[in-house]
Parts: sequence; structure tokens; C-alpha cells
Amino acid sequence: MPEPDLTPRQAEILDRVVDPGGERPTFPEAIAHRLREELEAGLLEVAGALDDGDSLFVGKQVIHAAHTCEGLAYARDYERFRWSLANARGTLSHRGVQRMIGSGYSIAPLDAVRGVLADLMSDDDDRTGLGAFLQGLSEGTRAELGAEVADAVSKFAMDWPRVGAAWLPRVETSMRVTCCEGRVTFSGKADLALFRPRGSRAGTLIVDLKSGGEHDRNLYDVRFYALLETFVRRVPPFRIAVHYLDSGDTPTLDVTEDLLRSEVRRVLDGVRKYQSARTKRLDALERTPSGLCPYCPLFGDCEPGRTHHRERSEL
Ligand code: SF4
Repeated sequence: MPEPDLTPRQAEILDRVVDPGGERPTFPEAIAHRLREELEAGLLEVAGALDDGDSLFVGKQVIHAAHTCEGLAYARDYERFRWSLANARGTLSHRGVQRMIGSGYSIAPLDAVRGVLADLMSDDDDRTGLGAFLQGLSEGTRAELGAEVADAVSKFAMDWPRVGAAWLPRVETSMRVTCCEGRVTFSGKADLALFRPRGSRAGTLIVDLKSGGEHDRNLYDVRFYALLETFVRRVPPFRIAVHYLDSGDTPTLDVTEDLLRSEVRRVLDGVRKYQSARTKRLDALERTPSGLCPYCPLFGDCEPGRTHHRERSEL
């Protein structure tokens, strides 16, 4: 993958994250089948306890909420997705990266972002509602959002080696796995996936792009994607990574059978906690305050959450 004039950061990402050399691991052919059996066996009780017509839709936020606070897990069940500046920023950044990569880097980050915004706002078939959300913003807020998104896309362009077509880039790539005769569905959308497996030899790299500070939970999110990728493609990725746009750092994890097994256990535990929270009365939910409280839909009426937040703010 020769590329002239790599910056030290690009060279580091190329050598350490993207193409670390050595043999890619070969996994047993039945690995996806075995992991899925483990998952389905663990889900039987939860699926069996669901009311007729009820089903669970589980993504990374649900699992994370279930492991954080019962109240937050409960709220996730009732919360309807709404566009906000924060989630729009993430989606627009990925679309900008996608457009830039798709153009073979002939489009500059700022133009890629301008194009994405213009297309979304003139889309007559605005199925996600993002175009309408953007149109509803004031011109100043939209310009500020566009600048932040361009900043994120530019940072990716500066710190990552060029992602060429031969790397088989997939941006915002969706994965979905349905278990227990449709009663439990897992879904996720990896920000960036590169390369592909060859036979049972792993080859895929999955990367999440983050604009905030470093946090362990981000690597857990990508472990979840690694599991979904294993179910869908039947071969695990060889590696997962989180790229922090603000610091340029890119922690990675090599994917092993042990890592996938522990992810199955974490997911199962999360689904059980989630289902338990869904069936409780609001006043019976255990509250475990954390830094996530201000983003929780129950925050306004949650005394432990508000106290925790107040105490943290006073520090
Ligand atoms: S505000 Fe905090 S403690 Fe309260 S339910 Fe939400 S996450 Fe839990």
C-alpha cells in the first residue's frame, strides 16, 4: 500500500492499525455457528418470557445502558430516536468521510460536507428525517454544525492513510442478526470496515470513529460489532479499533475466540438486565448514577441521578 509523504501519524496508523504485518488468524469454520448456539441458548429464557407479539431490539446503547443503570435501560425501551446536534454530527461526519473516500479523495473534506448537507436538505425522500432536522436549524447553528463536521472529516483525512477502493471500504455499514425465531434482534452500524476475509482466514478491520474523549466503553461497542460481523460473515474480523479524531489515538484489540466468547457473555448479561428493567415499575428500578445521568431521559425526575450530577459539578 505505498503512499508518498505519509505523516508520522498516518504511517503509525498504517503500520500499527491497518497493516500490522504477520499472518492473519484463521478461525475454525464453525466458529459463528458455535457462538450463535451459545447466544441462542442463553436467550431462550428471556425470549420465552416475552409476551405474545413482544420482541427485543438490541443495539450497543441498550447493552451499555443495561450494564450501567436499570433506570437508563428502562428509559431506552421507551425512548424514541430523535435527531440532535450530537447524533447528527456523528452521522454527517461519517457521510462526509464516505463521500471523500468514494471520490478517491478528489473532493476536499469541506466540499464533501457541503455536498452531504445540500443533498440531505434537498432530498425529497428523506426517510431518516435528518434532512428535515437540518432544515429546522437556524442558519447560524447549521453553519456551526457544518464547521464541526468538516473539522472531523479533515482530521480523518489528515491522520489516516488514504483509504483506497482496494481496501474495500464500508462506511456506516449495517449488521443485523435475528435470534430466537425473530423475538430478539441485534443490530449495529460500524463506522468503518476495511478489507475482507479469505476463506476462514480473518482479514476485516472494524473501526469506530469518535470525536469525544477516550473511554473503555467505546472498545466494548466495537467488540459488539465484531460479534455481529462474525455472525453475518461467518468469519470474525482480525482486529477492531477506535479512532479518536481529536487526539489521533487509535487503540486496537486483536480479535480472538476468547474475546468473542466473552462478548457473547456480556451481551447475554446485558439482554437479561434489559428485559428485567423493562418489566419493572418505574419506582422499583434500581438507580445507579454515573456520568451518563444528564443524558438519561429520566434525569429530570431522578433524585439519585440529579444529586450525583450536582455533586460532580461542584467538584
Ligand atoms: S438519571 Fe442516572 S441514576 Fe437516574 S435513571 Fe438515569 S442513569 Fe440511572
